[in-house]
Amino acid sequence: MAQISAFEQEKRTRDAVNTALSRLAGEIEEVESRIERTDAYSRLIGLGWDYLETYKPTSCPLCNQTIDPSEALAHLRREMEKVEVTGEIPKLKERAKQLHLERESYESSLRRLRDLQTTLEGIEYTSSGMKPQSLKKLWCSDVSTTMAVLER
Ligand SMILES: [Zn+2]
Repeated sequence: MAQISAFEQEKRTRDAVNTALSRLAGEIEEVESRIERTDAYSRLIGLGWDYLETYKPTSCPLCNQTIDPSEALAHLRREMEKVEVTGEIPKLKERAKQLHLERESYESSLRRLRDLQTTLEGIEYTSSGMKPQSLKKLWCSDVSTTMAVLER
């Protein structure tokens, strides 16, 4: 009976790890797409600044509307400062790094659970029924450790 509940606990842990992994995958994708977009925007306003300052066009090179080049330059200056002052790109990169680390830790928990499971299954086939108590304890403690990580 205790063995069945340990297996159930292991399955619940594995499900929880998998749920956490897919949530993380979604978050990572979102943060990375924000990094790309912010990066692209920052390059665009940099190039726009250079273009406006050099050629002083009276129509916008992107949408062709009539513009005042000095007003447009002032606007780009404000946008550049906004991107620099908020430091959004470094912040997003830091967040992406944390999410990747978190994912690695979940993946290693999953691997550990699978390895222990395989070991336990192997022992069950070779010996006559009983699994060594110490190994079972190790497995249960690993499940608890993983649960504790998930419940942080
Ligand atoms: Zn425009």
